[in-house]
Amino acid sequence: MQIQQLENLLGKLPGAVLIVDRWKKIVICNARARAVFGADLPGHHLLAAIRQPEVLAAVSDVLASRETRIVRYETRRPTETVFSIQVGSLDEEEDGIGGALLHFTDVTTVERAERLRSDFVANVSHELRSPLTALTGFIETLQGPAAEDAQARQSFLEIMQGEAGRMKGLIDDLLSLSRVEAMELVKPRGEVDLGELLRAVCKAQQPRADKAGVEIEFSQPPEAIHIQGDRDQLFQVFQNLIENAIKYGGGKNVRIAISTMDKAVGIDGAAVQVDVIDHGPGIAPVHIPRLTERFYRVDNHRARDVGGTGLGLAIVKHITMRHRGRLKIQSAEGEGSVFSVILPTGNHP
Ligand code: ADP
Repeated sequence: MQIQQLENLLGKLPGAVLIVDRWKKIVICNARARAVFGADLPGHHLLAAIRQPEVLAAVSDVLASRETRIVRYETRRPTETVFSIQVGSLDEEEDGIGGALLHFTDVTTVERAERLRSDFVANVSHELRSPLTALTGFIETLQGPAAEDAQARQSFLEIMQGEAGRMKGLIDDLLSLSRVEAMELVKPRGEVDLGELLRAVCKAQQPRADKAGVEIEFSQPPEAIHIQGDRDQLFQVFQNLIENAIKYGGGKNVRIAISTMDKAVGIDGAAVQVDVIDHGPGIAPVHIPRLTERFYRVDNHRARDVGGTGLGLAIVKHITMRHRGRLKIQSAEGEGSVFSVILPTGNHP
C-alpha cells in the first residue's frame, strides 16, 4: 500500500494517528493529526509535534520492548485537550514499516466528568460530615458531663433535632436532584394550570412567611394558564424560589408575578413567565452565573444558618430544562432579586 493510500485510510479514523520510524521520525500522519499538530509533520522528529517527556519515553520503550503502552498527554493546541495515546509497535516485515504507531483518543470530557463526579462525592461527604460531627459531640456530652442536667439535655436535644433535620433535608434534595436528572430527557406529560399551582405553593409557604414576618403578594389570574408539565416538579420549582425569597429577602415582602407572551428568547412559540421578586440585599454579579451549580452558596454561613443545602437552584434549573424552559436571574445589590421561570405554553412535540 502506498503512503498516500495509508494516510487516506487512517483519515477515516476519528482520532489522530502518527506513525514514526525507529528513529522517531514521523513518516505518516492522518488528517486529524495534521489538524492538531500542523500540516508539515512528515519528515520531522516526533519532538516537533510532542515535547512531553512521558510520551517520548513511552515511544522509546515501545521501540525497545515491542510492547504496547498507554500514556496520557495534555496539550493546549488547539484548545486545552487531554489525550490518551496508545503506542503500538510496528514490525518491518509484518507491517512494512519498522517503528511505532501512536493513536490519540480525546479523553477531555471523560476526565472532566470524572472530576465533577469526585468533586460531588467530596462535597456530599463534607456536607453530611458537619451535622454528623455536631450530633456525635452532643451525644458524648449527654453521656458524660450533661448526663444529669435536665435543662442542658433539653436544649441539646433541640439542637440535635435541627442537625438531624439538616441531614434529612440534604438527602431529600440529593434524591430529588438525581430523580430529576434521570428524567431530564423524558417529556413531561401532564397538564398544569400555573395560576392554581402558584396559589397552592403560596399557601404551603404561608407558615414560613408568617414566621419570617413576610407577606407573599400574589393574585391568581382570572383565566387558567395551562402548560404541559409535571405538577409535582413545577411545584418544587416555585417552592424553592419562594422559599429562597423568604429566606434571603431580608424580611421584606415577596411578590409573584405571572405574565403570558407570544414569544420569548430561547423558547419555541408562546410562553409564560413567572417572576419571584424579593427586596432583599440582592446578589453580586460575580455569583449569578454560578448560583445553579450544586452546593454553590453566596454566603456559606448565612445560607447554612437558614437551612440551605445549596441544591435548591440546581433542582430548579434541571426541572426548568426538562420543561424546555429557561431560568433567568436578575439582581441588583441593595435592591433585591428577580428569579424568572419562562416556560413554553404551546404543546411541544
Ligand atoms: P440554598 O439551599 O443554600 O438556599 P440554593 O441553590 O437554593 O441553595 O441557592 C444557592 C444560593 O443562592 C443560596 O445559598 C444563596 O446564597 C443564594 N440565593 C438564592 N436565592 C436568593 C435570593 N432570593 N436572594 C439572595 N440570595 C439568594
